[in-house]
Amino acid sequence: MPSIADFGARPRLGFTRSVLDRAAERRGDAAAIAALTAAPGAGVYVVCGEAIIAKKSLPTHNPLFALAQAHVLGEVRELVFLGLADGAARFGAGIDAAAAEALRARADLVVLDLRTIAVQGLVDPLHLPPLAQAKALLQWHARHRFCAACGAPTAMVEAGWRRDCPACRTPHFPRTDPVVIMHVVDGTRCLLGRQARFPPTMWSCLAGFVEPGENIEEAARRETREETGVVCGRVVYHSSQPWPFPMSLMIGCFAEALSKELTIDHSELDAARWFERAEVAQMMSGRHPDGLTIPPPISIAHHIIQKWFEDGDRVLR
Ligand SMILES: [Zn+2]
Repeated sequence: MPSIADFGARPRLGFTRSVLDRAAERRGDAAAIAALTAAPGAGVYVVCGEAIIAKKSLPTHNPLFALAQAHVLGEVRELVFLGLADGAARFGAGIDAAAAEALRARADLVVLDLRTIAVQGLVDPLHLPPLAQAKALLQWHARHRFCAACGAPTAMVEAGWRRDCPACRTPHFPRTDPVVIMHVVDGTRCLLGRQARFPPTMWSCLAGFVEPGENIEEAARRETREETGVVCGRVVYHSSQPWPFPMSLMIGCFAEALSKELTIDHSELDAARWFERAEVAQMMSGRHPDGLTIPPPISIAHHIIQKWFEDGDRVLR
């Protein structure tokens, strides 16, 4: 599957192109992690469930705290090692929900969900990949405190990259859930859908989780057929994106429609319909007569739709 780079003058695809060296070889070395923790320049991203804590500043807020500052913000349940930025360690700290609520009252801080931060550009884009890494990993810890094999409490090891069960010795590794997101195309038309949770004017590509025993192409065809009744043939990979809500990997594809008639599964979608290229142009430029839009540049859907708009049917080759 060729990856078609999608950067250059275009907006950056959100949460990609991390500057961190994950330095995985340090994770199991407690002395090295302790030294990195104590070294000047060590920084920490503070996460509480969906919320990110940042220092209020202009033109963008600063989500990177010194380790001592993070411990003052709230009780740190887990401190995970994210990697190195120019030799300085970066960590993620998960704090209690109650602490985050108390921080909302502070004039020098902002407490915001990561989706809002990313869409509105409230922090330097360089912070988005490590924030995604910290949020996804810490959310995995929050949901995996007990062994899935025997039910005993598990303990964090490897600086946050594994949890071990002391009772049955099963190791548990952080999960990433693959999601296919496909732009279904039929000549000059494409198929877009709306989920109930979308902003009222936004239409996007269809998407769904890859199931066990299924490859990307099969998942793209199955999800499209389940949600809209449309049968797809060729599926071509475009690019992928970490999507830490809570811990997904979005796998962007183009899918060739072999049938046109729509039978919409309303438990999955509010609506779906075919859009002509000219209408998509209006949506992309903000000039649609009914105010319809596509997702913002932070999301992979925006990039897939733009690529199809520029290249047409060639995206299926
Ligand atoms: Zn166990």
